[in-house]
Amino acid sequence: SLAARDIAYTVHGYTNLRQHEEQGPLVITGGEGVWVSDDEGKKYLEGLAGLWCSSLGFSEKRLVEAARRQLERMPYTHTFSHRSSEPVIELSEKLVQMAPASVTKAFLMNSGSEANDTAIKLIWYYNNARGKPEKKRIIARRRAYHGITLAAGHLTGLPYARAGFDLPMSDRFFHVTAPSWYREGLPGESEEEFSTRLANEVDTLIRSLGADTVAAFVAEPVMGAGGVVVPPKGYFEKVQAVLKKHDVLFVADEVINGFYRTGNTWGCDTYNIQPDILTCAKQLSASYLPISAVLMSQDFYEVIADFSAKHGNLGMGYTYGGHPVAAAVALETLKIYEEDKTGEHVRAVSPHFQKRLAQLADHPLVGEARGVGLIGAIELVRDKKTREPFEVSAKVAPQVTGRCLAHGLILRPLPGDAVGICPPLIITEAEIDQLFDRLTAALDDVA
Ligand code: PLP
Repeated sequence: SLAARDIAYTVHGYTNLRQHEEQGPLVITGGEGVWVSDDEGKKYLEGLAGLWCSSLGFSEKRLVEAARRQLERMPYTHTFSHRSSEPVIELSEKLVQMAPASVTKAFLMNSGSEANDTAIKLIWYYNNARGKPEKKRIIARRRAYHGITLAAGHLTGLPYARAGFDLPMSDRFFHVTAPSWYREGLPGESEEEFSTRLANEVDTLIRSLGADTVAAFVAEPVMGAGGVVVPPKGYFEKVQAVLKKHDVLFVADEVINGFYRTGNTWGCDTYNIQPDILTCAKQLSASYLPISAVLMSQDFYEVIADFSAKHGNLGMGYTYGGHPVAAAVALETLKIYEEDKTGEHVRAVSPHFQKRLAQLADHPLVGEARGVGLIGAIELVRDKKTREPFEVSAKVAPQVTGRCLAHGLILRPLPGDAVGICPPLIITEAEIDQLFDRLTAALDDVA
């Protein structure tokens, strides 16, 4: 069977490999709109859009056509040594037009991890170029997920993604408190006071490390894989003021937030963030092909451009960075967003999504229901009043997502015993109702 061959030959990331040998895979074989089906023909509503990425669902013919056209015309060229292609040029231009005002250049690659890794290396390069070789330390947040390659893996602040690897660069990467008011707020502390305390924590850390050793702060506007943590009021305004004071760059990881997830083009628009560097992936191509980008300002570009001239070249790039077929699919994705007014659609249906999400807060298992736009999570607790969690060995989110599967809904357990909800952006109000009806039934099964 397919399952037996999967167990025999396939290694799965983020999977307990021994458990997998017992349990076997869920083999997805088809998709239509926001629905996918498995090899036994069972249909599921894809409530997490794959891994927060399948914004246009699973049957967008225009993307298939865009890939086919480019494959027939010119399946591969690269972007090293002055080489380029039409889709790369058009996509870079389009991304710069869509990006926050300060962005003037786009550097294309293949995954979110690669984009964040590249951003970190470019920042080190930039500070060497500026004659500040000590200014290399990077601050991220606990619970953050920024990928798994070497530098991005150091940014990630989730124990499950770091355990057992003995990551070596502990003098370069630091983590501060995640902005979860629900979990980290002190008794009686207002949202604004919590934000002030967290910004002060960043300030204190920079001062104690020495501002001349701190290069950048990396954050998602809304933390996704860390549990869908929506920032408290004033948080990013206060943190940005601290960073400015210390000449520390803001890197916005828009890998999940980017392209309308929070209701605006960027999470940065929703939270009034002016990033120095922005990384994006996932919904950039609606996940039909792998592609990501590092977007940068002209000031940043000028510094690295001069330094590349000094060294003979910019010593980074990827064989498949700016793959013409992936770029053509991404360009078509952005055209679809524009022509179908995807942003307007998200803003139209998200009040219903958020209303259904908020209603789950009444369920006996749910401590907090939180979200913005078309992303949300419920955090499950043993005691709603004291917020006491279930024991580590008895987490409830995996049981709930297991029951969701039985009800024909795919969701994902997240750290902090949360269940993440992040459907394709094309979801309708009727499908939103189906999603929450099924999730409610799963919660009732477990309660
Ligand atoms: N950054 C964020 C915010 C992510 O959610 C992810 C993946 O989920 C990444 C980076 C890493 O992206 P990839 O898995 O494409 O390497």
